[in-house]
Amino acid sequence: MNTIVTKFGGSSLADADQFKKVKNIILSNSNRRVVVPSAPGKRHSKDFKVTDLLYLCQSHIESSIPLDDVFDLIANRYKKIVSKLDLSLDIGSYLDKIKKDIENGASKGYAASRGEYLNGIILANYLDFDFIDAKDVIFFNKYGSIDRDLTYTSLRKALENGRKAVIPGFYGSDIDGNIVTFSRGGSDITGALVSASINADLYENWTDVSGFLMTDPRIVKNPKQINKITYRELRELSYMGASVLHEESVFPVRDAGIPINIKNTNIPEDPGTLIVKYMEPDFNNPIKGIAGKKDFTVISIEKAMMNSELGFCRKVLSILEQNCVSYENMPSGIDSVCVVISDSQLMNKTEIIVDEIKRTCNPDSILVHPNMALIATVGNGMSSNKGIAAKIFTSLSESNVNIRMIDQGSSEINILIGIENDDFEKGINSIYNAFN
Ligand code: ASP
Repeated sequence: MNTIVTKFGGSSLADADQFKKVKNIILSNSNRRVVVPSAPGKRHSKDFKVTDLLYLCQSHIESSIPLDDVFDLIANRYKKIVSKLDLSLDIGSYLDKIKKDIENGASKGYAASRGEYLNGIILANYLDFDFIDAKDVIFFNKYGSIDRDLTYTSLRKALENGRKAVIPGFYGSDIDGNIVTFSRGGSDITGALVSASINADLYENWTDVSGFLMTDPRIVKNPKQINKITYRELRELSYMGASVLHEESVFPVRDAGIPINIKNTNIPEDPGTLIVKYMEPDFNNPIKGIAGKKDFTVISIEKAMMNSELGFCRKVLSILEQNCVSYENMPSGIDSVCVVISDSQLMNKTEIIVDEIKRTCNPDSILVHPNMALIATVGNGMSSNKGIAAKIFTSLSESNVNIRMIDQGSSEINILIGIENDDFEKGINSIYNAFN
């Protein structure tokens, strides 16, 4: 029997109408037997996410402020969903208990997780599936990361014999039974763990977009959709800012070789984007996607005979480490090395770092160049395929964009280019147009 694990994001379960769409999707394929819901998301741009409201309730209590007004917003949303779906479910008693627990000082994790918990109970009731509380099957170790062995064994056991079940996303429990959540957006991780534990044939991740686009639609008008992409290509693009999935959710399914299909709850007939472990490179369409980020600073260090000085780069990197700054990239020349650092990492530490490098490494010169943007052009069809870099650089030069840095990893699936922040949008448009 084929098994599909389906995870639905917050916008897919934001109100009763969305629940109806979700039910139609699940019941249209009997292989969809395990469902992982998020908490209700925004119904419109000015709306609140239930998870945010739950965090707010908990912080009200921490500051000794009554939570009634905020909690009412949450309670009314769930009550409306249950009544519009015509369910004979006493959601009020669940809400009362949660409110009391938070008032009595329940943890942040407990409070935040209740959005998924309640949506799970409602969805299980609506689908006539079993409800499995995530606290009984998703386990965190004492360091706060997932105990994969225990989690997989528990999930496998709970889902034996083709059981149809709803398991809320976003949380689990620690060894003492306390509720622990993943970082925000973490229901994606729950879906991935469930898929990997039972070796599902497919992990469907339903959201409000039809998968990944070749580039950011705020920068390029109507970019093409990506139909199929490898985990590796996706990792490169997500790292550079293209995001639909929680970053950590890819690893469990990638390790198990399970494909992920990103689908749109509002347009279920759209094929979406399929993420696979391996696919033949398409040499006719070598570029899968273009992503990038602004606001990097380059620290450029020169020293004669640097290449023969043992430990030079180690010293530079340990200065960054001591200052809790992680770097993005480190292209090097014969007697020079550059460290590319995101401004969000660097904050106001530039001067301290530069001084320490001067003191410890004794360079001939050290220069700081701010305002750089990075653009990654990614595709497994570019490896061993001549002329791709030429096409990228020609397009940038024709658009009058100056290239400040070039880096291509040995995997040959990503060409990284550093340009001025001000040229960022122009640069992405010109690369996109060169290949489309
Ligand atoms: N509801 C949680 C959040 O808003 C988790 C999730 O949606 O995946 O971050």
